Amino acid sequence: MSKIESIYHKSPVVVQNIMSSIKGFQIRQVRYSKHTWKTLDFLKKSQFWEVDQFEDYQLEKLKKLVNHAINHVPFYKERYTALKLNSSTIKNLFDINLLPIISKEDFRQHNNSLVSTHIHRKKMWVSYTSGTTGTPLSAYRTHNQLQETMAFMERLYGWYNPKLWRSRASFTGKLIVDPNNSKGPFHRVNHASNQYLFSSHHLVKSNIDKYINELSLVKPEQIDGIASSIYAIADHIIRHDRFGAIQPKVVIPTSETIWPHIRERIEKAFQCKVANQYGSQEGAPLAYECPHGGFHISPESGIFEILHPDSSPCRPGESGRLVVTSFLSEGTPLIRYDIGDVASWKTGVCICGRNMPMLETIEGRIDDMFFTIERGVISRVDSAFKNLPNAIKATQVAQVGLNQFQVRIVPDRNTYREEYADTLVENLHYYLGNSAVIDVKLVSEIQRTSGGKLRAMVNECKTVQNDILTTWNSAN
Ligand SMILES: [Zn+2]
Repeated sequence: MSKIESIYHKSPVVVQNIMSSIKGFQIRQVRYSKHTWKTLDFLKKSQFWEVDQFEDYQLEKLKKLVNHAINHVPFYKERYTALKLNSSTIKNLFDINLLPIISKEDFRQHNNSLVSTHIHRKKMWVSYTSGTTGTPLSAYRTHNQLQETMAFMERLYGWYNPKLWRSRASFTGKLIVDPNNSKGPFHRVNHASNQYLFSSHHLVKSNIDKYINELSLVKPEQIDGIASSIYAIADHIIRHDRFGAIQPKVVIPTSETIWPHIRERIEKAFQCKVANQYGSQEGAPLAYECPHGGFHISPESGIFEILHPDSSPCRPGESGRLVVTSFLSEGTPLIRYDIGDVASWKTGVCICGRNMPMLETIEGRIDDMFFTIERGVISRVDSAFKNLPNAIKATQVAQVGLNQFQVRIVPDRNTYREEYADTLVENLHYYLGNSAVIDVKLVSEIQRTSGGKLRAMVNECKTVQNDILTTWNSAN
């Protein structure tokens, strides 16, 4: 813990709010500038471009990024020179295929030489992501590109509410409230951005009424952040009939896969739309959902490829690994980066009138997928949870061995009946195969990750994880 953090945790709430606002002001200074608003103006126009306008723009940006990487990033300089690649290699967008795919392992091993030397590191923003091995990896972002990223986010926010500096309740995984505090308040205020930061570490049953009271006083126009935290509040609202206490215009979850039953309950509780979004700490390009339900990629932010294990492109509806090239990643360039997620394309046009291509799904992290001898790699089991009775409050399915699974259920002790678990296990066999051994464990709480996330599917068997990664990466 840093000195400032330890002062923060010893201070009264009013001082913590001042400290949160000072920090918020510093962040706002970096992320919001004239460049942010200028970019937003551009994005408001480009969102209605024709397909060929997007493609021309992407080609120009791709050439520029490759050029930048060769000139300023030791890792790319070495790898591309060895393969005799340069920016003139790229004549059209299909030529992206000529560039090598960068794996997570490359990213980990060459984390340092992937940083651009065109700006001093101290003048960039650094984000840390935890790699699968638990080693923190860093990704550098230039301030200019952070501002551009904010402009992309502002475009999304604006689709639901054109007002700037709308009040936001953001569920964060950071320890903004002392973990031993059980009385609340469970949020702190960042006055600089009209943002109320809610803790994801205090969401036990006895606190949720207090959370709802705090939220109803704050009256957020937008709720965003960790999906499982927002879900915990939504579920409580429905169970205890507290509808109407909080009326945001939109809920924008981050970081977790939004399964249909989770979306359904959040939308019911808050009586507004859930807008799914995709991005990453590494600075990946962005995708987000319009008010008509189209999950559009933002082609101005980068190139999304969805590939089979042999690196050929997937057709719409086929799931494959997501490989991203980001125009927002000058600091640590991501060029054909295999980010470890699985996705699929959707065909058709969206009634919103935008030609920005659409994703059908982002199905979560490969590391948390399952594998059984009978069924191979299993990326989702969500339909097994459809029509779950109210007596089951939360679940997590874990792969604990080669053919072994554990379903963790948080039951409502008053109404729970054993046959509910039987139905769930029966449903899961449909996905995992009949030979899978599935145990049920009733728990009082499902453990969150250190970042405050709650994962619905988790693979706790290292050997199986490695097998899945080998299957997915076999072409590399
Ligand atoms: Zn749309």
